[in-house]
Amino acid sequence: MISREQIIYLDNNATTQLDPAVIEEMLPFLNDYYGNPSSGYTFGRQVRQAIDLARERVAALLGCEAVEVVFTSCGTESNNAAVNSALQLDPGRQHVVTTAVEHSATRRHCETLSKGGRSVTVVGVDGNGNLDLAELEKAITPRTAIVTAMWANNETGVLFPVEKIAEIARRKRVLFHTDAIQTVGKIPIRLADSTINSLALSAHKLHGPKGVGALYISKRCAFRPSLIGGSQENNRRAGTENVASIVALGKAAECASAALAEEATRVRAMRDRFETGVREKVPDTFVNGDLEARLPNTSNLSFAGVESDAALMLFDRQQLCCSAGSACRTGAPEPSHVLRAMNLGPDRTRGSMRFSFGRFNTEADVDKALEIIPAVISRLRELAPGQPVRESALA
Ligand code: PLP
Repeated sequence: MISREQIIYLDNNATTQLDPAVIEEMLPFLNDYYGNPSSGYTFGRQVRQAIDLARERVAALLGCEAVEVVFTSCGTESNNAAVNSALQLDPGRQHVVTTAVEHSATRRHCETLSKGGRSVTVVGVDGNGNLDLAELEKAITPRTAIVTAMWANNETGVLFPVEKIAEIARRKRVLFHTDAIQTVGKIPIRLADSTINSLALSAHKLHGPKGVGALYISKRCAFRPSLIGGSQENNRRAGTENVASIVALGKAAECASAALAEEATRVRAMRDRFETGVREKVPDTFVNGDLEARLPNTSNLSFAGVESDAALMLFDRQQLCCSAGSACRTGAPEPSHVLRAMNLGPDRTRGSMRFSFGRFNTEADVDKALEIIPAVISRLRELAPGQPVRESALA
């Protein structure tokens, strides 16, 4: 087994290290406080109180009210639930508007809806990964139930102007949901001042555990649950609560609220030093995505003439963890749908790699990455000058 001390972890958009404070907070709910939060006796009620505190902490991070937060099993469930609810609310509105660069948690759900007879309109992006808002507005029809668009792209970090999209949706009287799974904990959010109707988040992207998420549903909006059963989560998500993970998500949210301003500055500085360093040392490096409207932690790079699978294999031998596009695509042979939608051409698309920084990265990680990456890229370029090297050539 490779231990975490041995690796240079630049894949924080795939998942993050658990914060020790989060582990400390959740452990008693695995060991000692195992009561069912729905039970009427004190041993159960104290667990209910811990869930209520977690809800308040998540609400504080989102700038919303605690009643607007529903705990779920993951970000994917939150995204699916918001769209499914909108489609159930009005049988006359069975059209969904989405974008070409969504995570599979939305993209494949929309494909399934489309195969099942719903209509879906996919709005494209430009070469920087930005949306054309006029095109998005035109896509909304009287049959549209919901617009669903991510806040921050998981591969490039590009930020969509979600407040503007929410405003368009409000004017057109359709719901707007945003997948903020890469956004929450990285940039400030204040939903109380927003017309966003629903928002998805996932604990494991903000130093919490995997397998727990939340869905914000504005108190102004009706909601139809996907999971039907018990009355948990105020009748919005049935099933006995994943208590320890919910407590952990609450603590992760509290830590994120406290660290956000300092962390965004520190992580951005590391990402920028990394990106500048790579571009200085490696000729023909391209940064993919808008340089301004971008998360502070993400750098998506392409190296001319280099295939990402070959580079990732050599990085892995030196314990440098990063990914080609999204982690969920690793092993999938097709190139990133995000960079394809940006129309960057096959070379740049096949060679794209995502480096994403987080709370536990250090300047030493940047130093090591700045040694490994130039050496790997020049080795690959020497092996086959003028043409991309495939992983099979390195075996
Ligand atoms: N949406 C985005 C933008 C993501 O980055 C991810 C995870 O990679 C998901 C959705 C899925 O989240 P989860 O793994 O919690 O289901």
